[in-house]
Amino acid sequence: MLQQTQVATVVPYFHRFMEEFSTVGDLARADEERVLFYWAGLGYYRRAKQMHAAAKLVVAKHGGIFPSDYDQILSLPGIGRYTAGAIRSFAFDLPSPIVEANTQRIFARLLKLKGQLTDAKIQSELWNFATAILPTKTGSGETNQAFMEIGSQICLPKNPHCLVCPLHQMCPTYESGSQAEIPSPKPAKIYEDRTEAALLIHHPKKGYLVRLCLPEERWAGLWDFPRFDVSKLSAGESIEESLATQFLSKYDLSIEIRSLMSSMKHGVTKYRITLYCFEAALSPQSRPNRVGLEWRTRDQLATLPLSSTGKRLWKQLT
Ligand code: SF4
Repeated sequence: MLQQTQVATVVPYFHRFMEEFSTVGDLARADEERVLFYWAGLGYYRRAKQMHAAAKLVVAKHGGIFPSDYDQILSLPGIGRYTAGAIRSFAFDLPSPIVEANTQRIFARLLKLKGQLTDAKIQSELWNFATAILPTKTGSGETNQAFMEIGSQICLPKNPHCLVCPLHQMCPTYESGSQAEIPSPKPAKIYEDRTEAALLIHHPKKGYLVRLCLPEERWAGLWDFPRFDVSKLSAGESIEESLATQFLSKYDLSIEIRSLMSSMKHGVTKYRITLYCFEAALSPQSRPNRVGLEWRTRDQLATLPLSSTGKRLWKQLT
């Protein structure tokens, strides 16, 4: 959960998740929709699916006992070199190095490494250093956590608190006053603007039409309201017209768009998205469950794992 996500955001999700899936076996036995429901809102849903797959493997291959062998940990879905090192050192106190966002900044400063941290040669030096500083017997977990903590609390990207840093006497970056240049600032991220529109197609008795996102889609395995890219409209075409045309072409169903309910902004990977949300109705003779759409009442939507914007829309409905 903590990959790419801050601790403060994770804490309530972690507690809810652990109450629901207290053991590896509980998680392995759960169906994916339930796992995604308890993850919904944390983003990067691939992590939840991989953790679920890893739990199944731990049960099938290791009798439900999480392995402590590095290669066995690394072979589990969703676990890379950093996570394997974190698990092995924190949970088993075995010597495994960690290079992550915070520690790589300290290590680069302690080694006075110039250049981009993503550079393969620099990464190799950082991993070698992270390995060299670990005690050979016990204490690797504490050592790794201490460096992570100094990185997040003291050796900050901007204006690090060098005077209270326990490492300042051995830090060449502090000595030369080059904290602003080490590590080298990342190149600015280039975002792409995009306009999308979601349809809240309502039926007084059946509820709202939703769809399960396909494996290759942005929110694979989660449910969402029908949604279309309307960034490129034809000359004179309105968003409503584009939506109705795209919906007809995709589902072979006509809709009547009633009103703009709301708009919201959100970001996904490199996209900065403006999402317009329209209330709409379907022609009475249509059978949406034949074309990948399903009706769900407002109460039923509360128990579905919805995409992050789907959840925001559901909150607006309630
Ligand atoms: S002395 Fe400053 S730059 Fe060096 S490790 Fe400590 S906080 Fe980071």
